[in-house]
Amino acid sequence: MADFVIPAPATPSIPTSGGAAFPVRRVYCIGRNYAAHTVEMGGDPNREAPFFFQKNPNNLDASGEFPYPPQSSDVHHEVELVVALKSGGTNISVDDALNHVWGYAVSLDMTRRDLQGEAKKAGRPWEIGKAFERSGPVGPLKPVSEVGHLTEGRIEVKVNGVVRQEGDLNQMIWKVPEMIAYLSDYFELQAGDVIMSGTPSGVGAIQRGDTMDAMIDGLGVLSVKVV
Ligand code: MN
Repeated sequence: MADFVIPAPATPSIPTSGGAAFPVRRVYCIGRNYAAHTVEMGGDPNREAPFFFQKNPNNLDASGEFPYPPQSSDVHHEVELVVALKSGGTNISVDDALNHVWGYAVSLDMTRRDLQGEAKKAGRPWEIGKAFERSGPVGPLKPVSEVGHLTEGRIEVKVNGVVRQEGDLNQMIWKVPEMIAYLSDYFELQAGDVIMSGTPSGVGAIQRGDTMDAMIDGLGVLSVKVV
């Protein structure tokens, strides 16, 4: 163990269905990965090269509460499948990619849409809209040994019981193995890396007091109260 000059921060982690926690090293998030959502955000749904941004590992939060963030009045939900890696490397092939997956979880890529919009317009980075405190509510990871690889199935989020976003995992423009392969051409992936795999259409604003119920077939419901 190294000696640190200040107390070392805790290792960010996600709970798993088995009890032990999954340590998180990096969080890669893909933009516009469902055609209908790409259209609603003003993009071209034809397949072009994917793009990624990052959240901070300690933005992931399994508390079941989402504190409405400061400096925004337009905070949106984006329900997403989380892919957690148990190993990594560079130049991973699409055929080999799923061998690196430890498991899957339901998450919400919470977004300060007003600040993201200003950043886009100015050609600035997105962190201010995406990588803020507790911006990644997440449910327990379930291992591949329990749920297999999730290639299809319903993905939805209800707000106060009303369906806001719905789609099917099979509508992803870039599939999970393709995202892993692509990222590994640009970064060295490692155990503990997590990918948030994009959101179906229907993103919208939430308010304090709302309850978001995010669901993916096979993974159950992640219920989050906006406080
Ligand atoms: Mn997203």
